[in-house]
Amino acid sequence: MTRLHRRTFLIGGLASAGVTLLSSSSANAIAYPFTLGVASGEPTADGFVIWTRLAPSPLNADGLGGMSSAAVTVEWQIANDPNFSGLAASGTVSAVQTAAHSVHVEVAGLAPGREYWYRFRAAGHISQVGRARTAPAPGTSPALTMLFTSCSHYEAGYFTAYRRMAEENPDLILHLGDYIYEGGAGSGVRSHQPSAEITSLANYRVRHALYKRDTDLQAAHAAAPWAVVWDDHEVENNYANLTRADSSPAGDFTARRTAAYKAYYEHMPLRSAQAPSGANLQLYRRLRWGSLATLHLLDTRQYRDDQACGDGTKLCPAADAPARTITGAGQESWLLDGLGQHQGTWDLIGQQVFFAQKLAAADGSKSMDSWDGYTANRKRIQDGWQARNVTSAVVLTGDVHRHWASNLMNDYATQDKVVGTELVTSSVTSGGDGNAADTGTSSLNPHVKFHKNQRGYVRTVTSSTQMAVDFRVLDKVTVRDYPVKTAQSYVIQAGNPGLQAP
Ligand code: FE
Ligand code: CA
Repeated sequence: MTRLHRRTFLIGGLASAGVTLLSSSSANAIAYPFTLGVASGEPTADGFVIWTRLAPSPLNADGLGGMSSAAVTVEWQIANDPNFSGLAASGTVSAVQTAAHSVHVEVAGLAPGREYWYRFRAAGHISQVGRARTAPAPGTSPALTMLFTSCSHYEAGYFTAYRRMAEENPDLILHLGDYIYEGGAGSGVRSHQPSAEITSLANYRVRHALYKRDTDLQAAHAAAPWAVVWDDHEVENNYANLTRADSSPAGDFTARRTAAYKAYYEHMPLRSAQAPSGANLQLYRRLRWGSLATLHLLDTRQYRDDQACGDGTKLCPAADAPARTITGAGQESWLLDGLGQHQGTWDLIGQQVFFAQKLAAADGSKSMDSWDGYTANRKRIQDGWQARNVTSAVVLTGDVHRHWASNLMNDYATQDKVVGTELVTSSVTSGGDGNAADTGTSSLNPHVKFHKNQRGYVRTVTSSTQMAVDFRVLDKVTVRDYPVKTAQSYVIQAGNPGLQAP
């Protein structure tokens, strides 16, 4: 039975026999539906999520991808090899219009610490093949090659960095936010669709589809499991909880956030635990990578207090008020509880906005959208990990469209002792080509060691004794197919926080 099933799957896209098998539904009238690629994510020691969305006409203005209201059966397969000669798991799932015909299959029962390949079939069409990987078993600590990036503005450049990430054959990819941008069409190397700023569910779906049609992005999704967290632009620039940053376009912001969160879930390889409930979506979560690392993934948008003195860089004593929060109280205690569990050698905190103090001027002006706008919250977390003897905390950050590397200090004013390390990735495209000659470090911030205004991503190779860090850059993103190179490297030693020369 299994062999027969596998055989019909293999020939289904090539010969009429496979189509005939499905012809009892109207599904065989669907044009090629896998225009948005495939993705995997959320690896555990026994499985991961696989994702796709059926969308033969992905940019249709109604956001429905050219699909009718009919549910469509989607077959899926997990194989032990890229040729699908041996299946590890298979099944079917129903793609329905209320989910924009997206599917999220939570595959379980697989072996730990190995790679698998997956694909889908629907209406006689076979998808691209993706490569996924299970996390290693608890008690084991094989080295982890992880890439992380953020801020992929479609108009600002080509997604070459995503293709270079795929070529590195990583075990895991993190996206730390600004996966899409909500603005209307502007000037750039290519144009946003829809052409106006997006606020409706249909328009968020079309925008996600526009990005997902990019073949460089599809290559990165197909190359490795991803773990994603959003920042602001998946909804609206600099929003804070249910407080909008500005009044344009007009409309109910709760309804807008509801639409944006739903479309985000529909397009990401997330588990059903992250399915939205109205205007809420439980995005903060943990992933365990054997006994090597615990990945604490944060959401610093959904629960934060509004920016203290408005957006931008300000001198703002109110930012230091003790009650202010960027995480919300629930997420703060969840993070500290998790840091106290010591499930892995490393505690990797994947999150959105600049964590270390970074003064913009001698008067104390700082960015209100970053943790500098919520300094008491930062201190409670840093003090909390010190109290729990967390000695290998590395904060992984996006948002600022630059590479940065910093030591995290017990006291930034006195530069008292290093208690952790922060690695900030630059963007895939946001900010355009950049300028390799820009300077950014300042005597105001002696703990901030590195800055580079070029696009790219960060590569970390982590073992139980050290993390090797490479800041990867491309000289241009407004021209396709530039190579990637390393602008700077560091080593972080387990149990000895801070940046060291490699
Ligand atoms: Fe951004
Ligand atoms: Ca941002």
